Amino acid sequence: MSKLEIKGLYKNYPEGGLITEVLKDINLDINQGEFVLITGPSGSGKTTLLNCISGLETVTEGGVYLDGVDFSKFSKKQMAELRKTKIGFVFQQYNLLPNLTLFENIQIACVIAGKNDTNKINTLLEKFNLLEFKNHFPNQVSGGMQQRTAIVRALINDPEIIFADEPTGNLDSKSTIEVMENFKYLHQEYKKTIIMVTHSLDNLKYATRHIKIIDGKVVLDEQINA
Ligand code: ADP
Ligand code: MG
Repeated sequence: MSKLEIKGLYKNYPEGGLITEVLKDINLDINQGEFVLITGPSGSGKTTLLNCISGLETVTEGGVYLDGVDFSKFSKKQMAELRKTKIGFVFQQYNLLPNLTLFENIQIACVIAGKNDTNKINTLLEKFNLLEFKNHFPNQVSGGMQQRTAIVRALINDPEIIFADEPTGNLDSKSTIEVMENFKYLHQEYKKTIIMVTHSLDNLKYATRHIKIIDGKVVLDEQINA
């Protein structure tokens, strides 16, 4: 059964009296357990697409169905509720809070969702080889470790889908491999559905599906590594 269905999605931005059409009639059906990589040139609409299908931005036209429910028309409050429990995010800039330790950065996501399971946080930190750094602040560890902390934060409330926008965009090649291996682990061990935007075709080897967009349109959609 499809986990996320995108039907007739359009996104326009008004700009100085003109309308810029960024996404044009996107139709996608993403199943539970897929690892989807969205690629395309800079400015092609990848971030806009990810933001629209994850509820970070409103859509101009069309629907985005999670488990059959169109959340593109949800209120801000309904959307916040959905984000707490069903959706995890990983961004290029890590988005960790600088004055909280790695542990506390993860804990805060639990608290927002009305939970606080210290054991679970420690277990995940250990699985992702971060336990011995749990009391460090983000600026005391490498970019790769910060991003891996962000991955644990995205996972902590057991979301159904994890969205990631250029998660390796700021990382060197060694950290890129570590972070991508972490995503592979989320996919294989935790059976998470992952939808990732990247400009790096090297990352294709981790995914099960490749969607390419050019100029706001899907130009390629294929299963890979089957
Ligand atoms: P990508 O992530 O593929 O580089 P984006 O989705 O960021 O592309 O941007 C696609 C197009 O949409 C670009 O032409 C960009 O200028 C435009 N765009 C993105 N966000 C906005 C916005 N908030 N207002 C106006 N135009 C935007
Ligand atoms: Mg982008």
